[in-house]
Amino acid sequence: MNVGQILKARGRSVVVNQAPTAIDEIIKELADYKIGAVVNVDDDGRVAGIVSERDIMRLLAQKGASALSHPASSVMTAEVVTCVETDSVNQIMEIMTAGRFRHVPVVTSDQRLIGIVSIGDVVKNHIAEVELEASALKSYVAG
Ligand code: AMP
Repeated sequence: MNVGQILKARGRSVVVNQAPTAIDEIIKELADYKIGAVVNVDDDGRVAGIVSERDIMRLLAQKGASALSHPASSVMTAEVVTCVETDSVNQIMEIMTAGRFRHVPVVTSDQRLIGIVSIGDVVKNHIAEVELEASALKSYVAG
C-alpha cells in the first residue's frame, strides 16, 4: 500500500491556511473539521508550514488565554517533512517515528500540496495489511 492509494480511498481534502491567522481561528478549524493539524501554503500552493494541536497546547501552557490572539505563525513549524504519492505506508511510519509527528503533507514533484496523511490513516492501513496477511496464512495452513 502506498500514499496514493490511501488518498484515493480517503480523499485528498486538506485544510490549509494562507492569510495570517490567529490561534483561536486555527482552533476553530481543528474542531470544525475534526483534524489535528492545519497546513500553511504560499501563493503557489507550496507547503510553507504546519500548525498542529500540540503547538497550540504548548503555547496555551506558556501564555494562558492570551495565546488565543497570537498569530499562528508564532507556533508554526516552517521546516515541514513531506512525502509523495509513491511513498509506501512503511516509509511514512518510519518518517513519523523518526520525526515524532503524526502528520505528513503529500506534495507533487514541484512541492505543491495535494493531500495529507495522518497517523490514523497509516495505522488503519497497516492493520488492514496485517489482517490480510493473517487470513492468507490461515487459508494456506488450512490447505
Ligand atoms: P503532530 O504530532 O503532528 O501533532 O506534531 C508534533 C510537532 O511536529 C508539532 O510541533 C508540529 O508542528 C510538528 N510537525 C507536524 N507534522 C510535521 C511534519 N510533517 N514535518 C515537520 N514537523 C511537523
